[in-house]
Amino acid sequence: MKKILLILSTIVVCASSAHAKLSVVATLPDFGSLAREIGDDKINLVVLAKPTEDPHFVDARPSFVVSLRSADVLIDGGAELEIGWLPPLLQNARNPKIEIGKPGRVQASQGIRLMNVPANVTRAAGDVHALGNPHFTVDPIIAKAVAQHIAQSFSALDSANAAFYEANYKKFEATINGKLQEWGAAMLPFKGQSVVAYHDSWPYFAHRFGLNIDVFLEPKPGIPPSPSHLTEVIAQMKARKNKTIIVEPFHDRRIAEKVASATGAKIVDFAEYPGGLPNSETYVKLIDALVARLSGALK
Ligand SMILES: [Zn+2]
Repeated sequence: MKKILLILSTIVVCASSAHAKLSVVATLPDFGSLAREIGDDKINLVVLAKPTEDPHFVDARPSFVVSLRSADVLIDGGAELEIGWLPPLLQNARNPKIEIGKPGRVQASQGIRLMNVPANVTRAAGDVHALGNPHFTVDPIIAKAVAQHIAQSFSALDSANAAFYEANYKKFEATINGKLQEWGAAMLPFKGQSVVAYHDSWPYFAHRFGLNIDVFLEPKPGIPPSPSHLTEVIAQMKARKNKTIIVEPFHDRRIAEKVASATGAKIVDFAEYPGGLPNSETYVKLIDALVARLSGALK
C-alpha cells in the first residue's frame, strides 16, 4: 500500500510539474491543419468537422461540447461558415477562455478582406454566404495570415514555447512562398479560363490563380440545384465552352454527372479540406492536389 501511494504521489507531482499542452479545438480541418503546422507536438488538437463534411451543415456530436468546454484555444472561421451548428455548442460549453476577444479565440477571418460581400446582409432564400464568402483558406496567401494569427494566440497562451511557434510559422511561410511559384507556374497556362462549380467555394482560389469560377450548379449558396436553374447553367456552359465542373465530396454527384453529360464537361473532384482527397493530409499537399487536378482537367 505504501509503495502504491508513493507511486501515485510521484505521478501527481510529475503531472503537475510537467508543462501542460495547449488544448486546441478547430472547427474545420483547414484550421486544424494550420494549427498542427504551428503547434506540432506541443498541442492537443481536436478537429470537429470531418474533411468530407459540408462545413455549413456539420453533424454536431455530444463530444464536441466536451472538447469545447476544456479548450484553451478555439479556431473558427468568424465569417458565419459555422453559424448553422457552432453557436449552440458554444452556449452549452460555457467556456470563458474561448469567448470572442480572448487570446484563446482565433477567428480566422479577422484581418481578411472577404470577397463577394452582398450589398445588403440578407439570408433571404437561404443564402448561406450572407456576410461575404467564407471559404477563404484555399488561397495560400490567406492561409499564411491565418497561420500567423494562430501562432500569435499560441504564443500568448504558452509563452514558454513562443519561440517554437514563431519558428514553425516562419517555416510554413517559407514553404508557402516557395510553393506559390510552383503552383502559379502550373496554373499560368489556364489564366482567364472559366470553370463551373457545384457550390461557390472557390473565389479565393480562382482569384489567386487567375481563373473565373463563377457559374454554379446551386442557384444560391446552400440552395439545392433546381431543374430550371440547371437548364440555364447548361446553356451558359455550352455558350462559354466550359470543360470542367468542380464537385466536393458531400455534393450530389449525380446532378453534376447529368450536367457533365449534357455539356461534354469533365467532373473534377475537389475538396476544401486537408484529408478530403487522397494524399492531401496537410495544407500544402491539399493545394498540390487541387492544382494537379485542375491543371490536368483543363489541359
Ligand atoms: Zn459556402
